[in-house]
Amino acid sequence: MEPDKLICTKCNRELELTSINLEYLGHRMTHQFPTCPVCKLVYIPEEVVMGKMQQIERELEDK
Ligand SMILES: [Zn+2]
Repeated sequence: MEPDKLICTKCNRELELTSINLEYLGHRMTHQFPTCPVCKLVYIPEEVVMGKMQQIERELEDK
C-alpha cells in the first residue's frame, strides 16, 4: 500500500517520514510522522495522536 504523498505547501517539498517523540500522561512514545526536510514542519494527523492516547489510556487501565 502506497501511503499518501504529502507536500509542504510552503516549500513545495515532499514530506519525509521522521521519528517524532510524543509525551502523554508521562508516557513517551515514538511515531513516524511526515516532516518537511526544509522547514521541519511536522504533519501530525489528529486521529493518529488520538489513537495513541487511547492506547496508553487502555494500558493504564489494565494495570
Ligand atoms: Zn516546508
